[in-house]
This record gives sequence, structure tokens and C-alpha cells, in this order.
Amino acid sequence: MSTRILYVEDDAFVARMAKRRLEGDGFDVTLCEDGAAGLELGQSGEFDIILLDHMLPGMSGIEILKQLNPEETPVVMVSGSSELSVVVEAMRMGAADYVIKETDGSYLDLLPRTVNRVLTHMKLLEAKREADERIAKQAETIQGVLDNMDPGITLFDPSMQLISYNDRFTELFDLPPALVTEGVPLIDLLKQLASNGEFNADRVDEEIAERLDLFSSGETFRIDHQRPNGLVIEIRGGPMPVGEFIASYTDITERKMMEEELRRLATTDPLTGVNNRRRYSEISEREMTRCKRYRHPLCVLMLDADHFKNVNDTYGHEAGDRVLKALADACVAELRDVDVLGRFGGEEFTVTLPETPMETALEAAERLRAKLAATDVELEDGQRISFTVSIGASCLAGEDEGLTDLLNRADAALYKAKEEGRNRVVAA
Ligand code: GH3
Ligand code: MG
Ligand code: MG
Repeated sequence: MSTRILYVEDDAFVARMAKRRLEGDGFDVTLCEDGAAGLELGQSGEFDIILLDHMLPGMSGIEILKQLNPEETPVVMVSGSSELSVVVEAMRMGAADYVIKETDGSYLDLLPRTVNRVLTHMKLLEAKREADERIAKQAETIQGVLDNMDPGITLFDPSMQLISYNDRFTELFDLPPALVTEGVPLIDLLKQLASNGEFNADRVDEEIAERLDLFSSGETFRIDHQRPNGLVIEIRGGPMPVGEFIASYTDITERKMMEEELRRLATTDPLTGVNNRRRYSEISEREMTRCKRYRHPLCVLMLDADHFKNVNDTYGHEAGDRVLKALADACVAELRDVDVLGRFGGEEFTVTLPETPMETALEAAERLRAKLAATDVELEDGQRISFTVSIGASCLAGEDEGLTDLLNRADAALYKAKEEGRNRVVAA
């Protein structure tokens, strides 16, 4: 459909000339000679553009313009008046352009060009408005998605200013909501976290710098952030295709606790709570390698409860369990923190004493033996069970290749201790 032009012009000759010129360019032109009628037609919404004379009978073009909505239908003033005050007033009232009717008729060529230019401009404006609306709607959708996500999310622009975020982020770190706004620099958020005690007090500046580096690196990363309130937040970051940086924040406190519990279950003996055999061997092997490299001494004790079968037979298996637990507790209390204690199996325990020569190890073993011999376990019915242990000790030698070499020698010494009458310490 061709463009519909309303031309309000009282000079019939001018109107006809203009109509012919515009129709020659394919426009559909409606003429109107009267101001009031022109206003009514102009408000009908049936035209794409209005050309408006200024000097009209009854009503001036400016007065008509005031009552039209030039944002909906653009208006071009076409006037014989070149008076500046009229031009300014017309533009102020929203006229899209102002064409002066030069007496030589040259303006007739100007009309179609002006109409085309104004309409093109209108179309561009309309397209931009539609695009803006679409973008605003998309942003709203994205925000809706963010707000309904469990992890906190932040999006920073390449200059590390916050572009997008969700409330979950603010909540997870107990940040003041007034601070977390679009445009806030990452450094300000980090400083707030620092003043909330979220970083290691001894190296706050370094930690802030490290976080800034991570977010600015353009590389994906994953770190755990330990909050002062005990929560563990997993932070994952990664670059976006257009240079922005997105990060997510997930509360993994529960998962961490479960992992820790699983690790504990996998490494400790359930009855006594000391290292199980696997864990004991793992740590001891490491200690042994270290001491061997630095030519430091290291000893191993193998400890076995004497006649333990009798304990079970006399007092029952449950009482036997309580004895084993008491035995382990007494060992833990007696040994140094650096010593490694493990339940090797049944009523047999092993101890690794790093940085300890045989002489000192034998003293420690003897102290332990005496302490255990003096320990008794009270049963519910008031009976007291005492027990003894035999201990074999071995010391790291240059030719030892693994922990097993040490354990074998300690076991042989333990066998000797049993043979020699039990409740004693024997060195390999
Ligand atoms: P010895 O002085 O020669 O070491 O004699 P012993 O009776 O301690 O040795 P033996 O190897 O014959 O028996 C070990 C006993 O330890 C038998 C077993 O039932 C008991 N025992 C092993 N593990 C446990 C446990 O977890 N709980 C209880 N109650 N008893 C255990
Ligand atoms: Mg035994
Ligand atoms: Mg045994």
C-alpha cells in the first residue's frame, strides 16, 4: 500500500501542484483546505504523515500541530512564513521538519524527499523501540531465570563492574543489598567481604588481589570459599564469549560435611576411632620415605593384647570390645601428636614413631606397656578387667625398602616378647 499523505493547505493552487508532484512519486495524497477539518482528519490515524500549512483560515498550523500527536503521525510544516519564531515554535511542538514555500516552486521537489526522509527516520525509531522492548523483555527473562536459581550468580563486565546478579548471591555472603547494585566494582564487593571477615586476617590484601586476578584472568576456575560462619561456598568462574565474566556461588557445606564424614569412615577403625590399617600404612609409608631421605631415625612398634581370647571367653565379646577401645584411648593419650597409631587388625595395633631412634622408641614402648598394664576397664556390673600387651619394636635401616620390612621385624620381635612370657617390650 502506498504512503498516505494528508496535506492541509488552503491555497488550492499550491495544494494541487503539491498533490501532482507527490502522486508522481507514488504517494497517495488527501487534500484538506480547512484547519478544523484538517485537525479531525489528522487525528483519524489514517495517514502516515501530515503536511501542514501554517496560515489557514480559522486555525493556524501551529495550533493544529499542538493538538496532534507527532510521535504517532509525523508532521511536516509547509509554510510561506520563514519567520524564525514560527519555525522554532513548530519544531518545539514536535514538527519533524519545516519546508518553506519558496515562490519559485522549488520546494515542490523538496516535499517527496522530506516525506521519505521523515518516514525512514520514523521507521528506524520504531525498529529501535521494538529492539529495545525485545532486549528489555529478554533481560527480564534472564533475571527471572537468575532469581529462580539456587546458586548465586554474578556477571561482571571486562572492567570488573557488576552487570547482573541475583539475590541469592547477596544472601549467600550476607552482603548489604544497597551495595550490590548494577555497576558496583568487584573491588568494592571484595572490600566489603574483607570487612566482614571473609578473608584470612593475616593476608587480606593478598587474598583480595588473588580474587581480583581470578576474575580478571579470563580463565575458568573453581575454588572453595570458607565463610567465617562455617559455610563453604564453591565459587566457579568462567569467561563469556563477549568478554564478560560469569561466576556462580553454591553452598556446598553439607556436601563437604558428607565428604569429610565419608573420608573419616574410610580411614578410621569404627570400634576404636584410630586409623585403620590402610590409613596407618599410608601415613607411615610417607613418614618412612621422608625419614629415609633425610637419614633421620624412625621406629615401629607392633603391639598385641595378651591372651585376649581369655578376655572374650571370660567377660564376653562386648567387654572385649570395651577393652580394645580403652587400650586405643590409652595409646592415643600416651603417644605424641606426630606418632601414627593404627589398628592393624583384631587385638593388634601398630605405632610409627618418626624422628625416633631405637633407644627412645624402647622407652616410649615401655611407658606405653606399663600404662596399659595399669589401665583397667570397669564393666556395668562393677567388675574391673585389667589387661597387658606385648610389644615388638623395630628401627628403620638403610636397606629397608618399604614399611613391610619394618613391620615384619617388629612382628618377629613381638613373637619373641610373647615367647619370653608376654607383657614386655622386645627390640628387633
Ligand atoms: P596372645 O597372647 O598369644 O596374643 O593370645 P591371644 O588370645 O590374644 O591371641 P589369639 O590370636 O589367639 O586371639 C586373639 C583374640 O582376639 C581372638 C579374637 O576373638 C579376639 N579379637 C580380635 N578382634 C576382636 C574384636 O574386635 N573384639 C573382640 N571382643 N575380640 C577380638
Ligand atoms: Mg593377642
Ligand atoms: Mg593377635
